[in-house]
Amino acid sequence: MSCPEYVRLRQLYYKALRRWGQVFLSTSKETGLAKLAAWQIAELKRKTLEERDTANERMCLHRQLCPACREETRQQQSAGRVLEPSARVIPFKATRN
Ligand SMILES: [Zn+2]
Repeated sequence: MSCPEYVRLRQLYYKALRRWGQVFLSTSKETGLAKLAAWQIAELKRKTLEERDTANERMCLHRQLCPACREETRQQQSAGRVLEPSARVIPFKATRN
């Protein structure tokens, strides 16, 4: 993975994912959630879930919009496939006047 921004976003996503996993999957004793009120735990779960989804969206969106990442995705998709000599990416621009 060569794009530094994508690497950064992916790290943020995994961080949010780990945090979410801790809150959702660990027992209350392990995470210290036992000290919190039920509504606080619910709020914490909602927040970590939201942070995880937001981080995931940012990562996916970047992957779609960043030229370097798109090129890499294209190469991965065509890996193992033999392309026709004429096959190439059609530039994204209007062709009609
Ligand atoms: Zn990128």
